[in-house]
Amino acid sequence: MTDHTPDPAAPLSTFPAYAWPEGKRSAVLLSVDVDANSPLLWSLGNDAPQRLGIHEIRNFGPRTGLWRLVELFARFDFKASFYVPAHVAEQHPDMLPLLLKQGHEIGLHGYFHEIVSEVSDDEFTGALEASLELFVRQTGTKPVGFRSPAWEMTPHMLAEIKRLGLTYDSSLSGFDHPYEIDGLTEIPVQWAVDDAIFFKFEGGGRDRFPMQSGRMVLEDWRAEWRTLHRFGGLFTLTVHDWISGRAQRIALLEDLLQDIAGAQDTWVATAAEIAQHHQTSSNKGRFAVAAAIPAAIGPRRFGTKA
Ligand SMILES: [Zn+2]
Repeated sequence: MTDHTPDPAAPLSTFPAYAWPEGKRSAVLLSVDVDANSPLLWSLGNDAPQRLGIHEIRNFGPRTGLWRLVELFARFDFKASFYVPAHVAEQHPDMLPLLLKQGHEIGLHGYFHEIVSEVSDDEFTGALEASLELFVRQTGTKPVGFRSPAWEMTPHMLAEIKRLGLTYDSSLSGFDHPYEIDGLTEIPVQWAVDDAIFFKFEGGGRDRFPMQSGRMVLEDWRAEWRTLHRFGGLFTLTVHDWISGRAQRIALLEDLLQDIAGAQDTWVATAAEIAQHHQTSSNKGRFAVAAAIPAAIGPRRFGTKA
């Protein structure tokens, strides 16, 4: 007879624990998606209604919000990763060089903040190549990372990112520490620690949810950070220039960063540094998965007659 009693010492997951640099038990990635008005322009398409109000809400980002975030990170001496749609960089040609000068990482985030389900493979490739070219032209250096607008991906996109010599993607959530998908390093994100789902509010009847209380969100984010630290994971915070650059969001982030700064055994690093750690440590190959989109269930549904 087989003994089904579980061994209490055996790990339940078939994956090992993630190995962080010596002396660190977890990592923190502070990421900023500098969307400004690019998602709005993409969603409006050929339409340009008379809605100065919505544009100005978003213009606050590159004018003020972004720089408040940069100042906040500097106060803690934290380096962050900024993902900038090429169109935003085009409108603000000093932005990328200034972010680099402050010691931060800059990464690709589409050309016009294209939504993946609305573009063909060829259109994606064209946008990726054009945005890479613009970054190199404006800064003289080649970025190493990509983050997909709205965090959707396809196997084609993963292949194109690799083909163009980028070293990582940061758009998926299949683990809560770095992993590899189709051979590309993935620096995972998570909706629960993204400011947009709680605070994105443009007025004019376009909003799906009311704004949430910052105090409640801070408590949730603190719990996520504390517990992920215990689990040895990667806490990837994602904020936006025009949302989290507002005064009360800066106050919220200040409290959160204070907690993080108090933990000596967490590693605050850019996504590029975390990707490099993944590729040059014992973690490489231990968390490798294939980008598989299962076939539709269609004909196998129960209770339907063919
Ligand atoms: Zn975005």
